[in-house]
Amino acid sequence: MKKTLFLLLIVALLLCACGQKQEKQVNIAASTRPMAQFASLLTEGTGLTVQPVVTEAVSCLHDYTLSVAQMKTLEQAEVVILSGGDTDAFLQHATKGNKWVVDASRAVSLWEDDPHYWLDPVCVKQMVTGLAQELSNIYPQHKDAFVKNLVALNEKLDDLVAKRDSILAGISMQGLVTFHDGFRYFARFAGTEVLAALEEEHGSEVSAKDLENIILLVKNQQIPVIFVEENGSDNAAKTVAKETGATILTLSMCMGTEDYFSAMEQNLETLKEAFS
Ligand SMILES: [Zn+2]
Repeated sequence: MKKTLFLLLIVALLLCACGQKQEKQVNIAASTRPMAQFASLLTEGTGLTVQPVVTEAVSCLHDYTLSVAQMKTLEQAEVVILSGGDTDAFLQHATKGNKWVVDASRAVSLWEDDPHYWLDPVCVKQMVTGLAQELSNIYPQHKDAFVKNLVALNEKLDDLVAKRDSILAGISMQGLVTFHDGFRYFARFAGTEVLAALEEEHGSEVSAKDLENIILLVKNQQIPVIFVEENGSDNAAKTVAKETGATILTLSMCMGTEDYFSAMEQNLETLKEAFS
């Protein structure tokens, strides 16, 4: 009998411990998946928990609405990291109760207020350097870990720059026709430019007139490939492809569930495939 009671006590204690684990505090909530990945890499070994607010795969977030569960994540967080610009404008009112709200884009020289800087690893290097500083101010006890992790993260980003140079060596690229004008940073990183975007900001599709101009552009410049986004609409792209004979390939805004570094490498491989 005593043995049974003892076992029950153990089970009760274990259940209690599990319950506590579920309610564990979120130290840092990061608005997007790439921001959460960078914050996780910076906080490695500190015991700080990082959670992305938006966990599902999206193309971009300009018209995003928060769910109740996401509000709860935000409420629990000590620190909220925003990607910045109008990427996460939907969080503006939801973070009023948070003690620390860090706008990571403040450390980046933004290009004409375009907020999609995470698609250029060179901009990400500026961003993570600023973020490590902000986190050191908030959690001074972990400063050494942030400094060490920043060095490792910068090395990973430098690797990506080196991969760009090797993957795209000898490839001559025409400008890009992409799903979203957010690919301007990626195009610059790859040494090219976005000639036209099939979807403007705020999820609106291009007008019939713009679509006509894009079709003319693709025909006149004999652009072989147009790019859609893995989580975005491809209706306009299909129309252009049908009218021009261009092939459709897929790029990633890195807002899906995949690892940022693999997604960026895949983007470079896709450019190589397009223009080889
Ligand atoms: Zn966007």
